[in-house]
Amino acid sequence: MDPVIIVHGGAFKLLDEEFVPSEQGVRQSAQAGMAVLSLGGSAIDAVEAAVRAMEANPIFNAGLGASLTRDGKLEVDASIMDGRTKKFGAVACVPDFMHPVSLARAVMEDGEHALLGGPGALAFASEKGLSHFHRTDLVTEGALKRLKRIRSERADTVGACALDSRGELGVAISTGGKTNKRSGRIGDTPIIGAGFYVDNSVGAAGATGDGEAIMRALLCYRATMFLKEGLSCGSAARESVSMLDRETGKKCGIIMLSPSGETGLYHNTPHMPWAIASAGTGVKSGISSEKSVLP
Ligand code: ASP
Repeated sequence: MDPVIIVHGGAFKLLDEEFVPSEQGVRQSAQAGMAVLSLGGSAIDAVEAAVRAMEANPIFNAGLGASLTRDGKLEVDASIMDGRTKKFGAVACVPDFMHPVSLARAVMEDGEHALLGGPGALAFASEKGLSHFHRTDLVTEGALKRLKRIRSERADTVGACALDSRGELGVAISTGGKTNKRSGRIGDTPIIGAGFYVDNSVGAAGATGDGEAIMRALLCYRATMFLKEGLSCGSAARESVSMLDRETGKKCGIIMLSPSGETGLYHNTPHMPWAIASAGTGVKSGISSEKSVLP
């Protein structure tokens, strides 16, 4: 099986100066995931590596530079899911954490619980030897500016779906959530079936957009059901974004990957930076489904 990875950097309206670094950032993320896959690594290792690359890049709303609550706090959500076992791990509302996707993976592997939140999640991180950061290391000028502007259209999460050489699928997503959210607010990112879903026999999906609407619509589970009904990944992605719009009036974006390595992406926001890496075709990318700004 030829490995494939698809990643996105959030569905929203980019500022002009964000075009190039966003497309570069998603390409680096897809390359980080593909580096794992091409050495025979697992889909789970690949999606974790791809999401970690975006969490460490302040252009994205995840980890370093994540969006802030209305009282200026950094509280992040993340999840990861294995398409073979259908086990997942998720963390919600974790303060000051650079790589919540790795914390979500530790939750999945520990296996006692599936979703941990708040200070308890931090205590679990310490037990597992995962680092906690100081707020000042993670809050960027960009995040403070965003909070000041309160750009309500901003809705971004980072995500990745991968297929490895053994035919296993995985998905991971990570976010700072909505800018100016109430402290304690948890979006769709750590909610199985809403922000993410994967089943090796059906496909994988990762969503970004208005978390409250995505939860109501159970977006990613229903997107994979479109694959089960026989739709292509491209059609399933388009149909699920339209469905969310019809049912809730909200905008979003989604990436999908089938068990045979077919990719699909769709968004009804102005932009959604994305990249796809595969053994056959190298890396393709854009800042929306129609536009690329890199040579
Ligand atoms: N879906 C995430 C949330 O609502 C972030 C986003 O994509 O806006 O928390």
